[in-house]
Amino acid sequence: MGGQKYPVTLAEQGRKLGVSRQRVWQLQRTAEGLCQQCGVNPRSEHSTAFCVECQDSNRERNRKRIGSQPWRPGGPGRPPIGLLTNNRVRATVSDVTNGVEK
Ligand SMILES: [Zn+2]
Repeated sequence: MGGQKYPVTLAEQGRKLGVSRQRVWQLQRTAEGLCQQCGVNPRSEHSTAFCVECQDSNRERNRKRIGSQPWRPGGPGRPPIGLLTNNRVRATVSDVTNGVEK
């Protein structure tokens, strides 16, 4: 048997596997349930990596980076959710069952 001691920390595992210090830090924050960008706020329920504030700032930065323009009628892409008309909103289960019963 080897002389392996447990528990092995993420930092020790990282050194062994050649993972960078930055990535080990990110993985430690993720294991703590924190954002892996700021390391302060808890992660968003919609993200495996970032908090709501970091998600928003990353989104805005990427929109600027790729030169996104607001949606306009006839243009490409999906209309903003607030502009969808009722017949384009996905039907709920109750809508479908109500329709079947009628
Ligand atoms: Zn964050």
